[in-house]
Amino acid sequence: MIIILLGPPGAGKGTQAQRIQKKSGLIQLSTGDMLRAAVHAKTKVGMIAKEYMDAGKLVTDEIVVGIISERIMEEDCRKGFLLDGFPRTVKQATALDVMLSEKSLTLDAVIEMRVNDDALVDRVTGRYTCSECNEGYHDSNLKPKGDGICDVCGNTNFNRRADDNRETVVSRLEAYHSLTAPLLPYYEKAGVLKGVDGMASIDDVTFQINAILDNF
Ligand code: AMP
Repeated sequence: MIIILLGPPGAGKGTQAQRIQKKSGLIQLSTGDMLRAAVHAKTKVGMIAKEYMDAGKLVTDEIVVGIISERIMEEDCRKGFLLDGFPRTVKQATALDVMLSEKSLTLDAVIEMRVNDDALVDRVTGRYTCSECNEGYHDSNLKPKGDGICDVCGNTNFNRRADDNRETVVSRLEAYHSLTAPLLPYYEKAGVLKGVDGMASIDDVTFQINAILDNF
């Protein structure tokens, strides 16, 4: 099964992708996570990507297509995968089509997480994760039960993404509307686009996504 999760920053793609991976074993491929790992490791790609990411701009198609095309060749992707944050431009989508057809694979569904722009800046600027187990939290609406202690693993250290600040989020939203939103008609035309209400509770969004995935 090959699935794409599509939506603006803060729509909940990462949270839902982790839940789907846990439930179905479908491997989550997040280009954002891969790029952050490259930045952290100070690789050549990471050094180039950092400038774009810090500015809230999209990293070049060439870089992300290169990363994904190598990643999907790996053994753990053999049974399918869940793309989180890729593709983000029509050029990336057409490159993905070519990659899949070369491997005789088909895209099963593109799940659009529909959210109001007004909610996104708060969602993104307030979010943080456990540095140990990566569980996600939010300053106002998803605090750990014990103050400063991760509910899942008891760790007391948390991370905030460098690009989750107000200024960068506005640029990332602009990039979404101008460069990524054109993927909606692209996948609608291909007959694979499904929508979920991303403003619903996290559990409810999971329920909506599972209802779609149960058809495959
Ligand atoms: P994300 O974790 O998906 O929010 O991505 C964080 C940042 O990584 C984005 O703001 C972009 O700068 C970069 N990025 C991630 N995925 C892509 C992609 N498919 N195309 C271009 N840039 C990307």
